[in-house]
Amino acid sequence: MTTSRTNGKKGARAMDTVALERAARAAQARAYAPYSGFKVGAALLTGSGEIFTGANVENASYGLTVCAERTACIAAALAGHRDVRAICVVTDATPPASPCGMCRQTLLEFCPDPAAVRVIAVGPDGASAEWTVAELIPHGFTGKQLTPPVTAPTRSRGRGRER
Ligand SMILES: [Zn+2]
Repeated sequence: MTTSRTNGKKGARAMDTVALERAARAAQARAYAPYSGFKVGAALLTGSGEIFTGANVENASYGLTVCAERTACIAAALAGHRDVRAICVVTDATPPASPCGMCRQTLLEFCPDPAAVRVIAVGPDGASAEWTVAELIPHGFTGKQLTPPVTAPTRSRGRGRER
């Protein structure tokens, strides 16, 4: 885990981070959080370089609430992308809030290499924390544990490409 650091890295990675944070902040503004008031925006980067966003959507039946990270994963999956390379999550929490357990499990489903997928949490003042998906959910449950083992296909867009 890296906390409260300025991203001084150059090149595409830094540009990706800037673009993801900007997209996540825009998504946060569209969050539907009338009960908690805790608005969350997320933006994920796919292997093909596309960005998908999500925001939390609450419900009067609280258990039906869906987190920003999961709505972003669903948006990407519906567009045929199953290869998350990075995700930025923006909240008004200080220090920056990490994804909940359910979102960690959902992210794991769409990360071909969990140790290489960055999860960047950003707070209201720009302070950030960063982990990999593997750090957030070590020893996570995947289709490899199912009998018979099932490996989730990646980036299909209907072509049925398996990883
Ligand atoms: Zn969550």
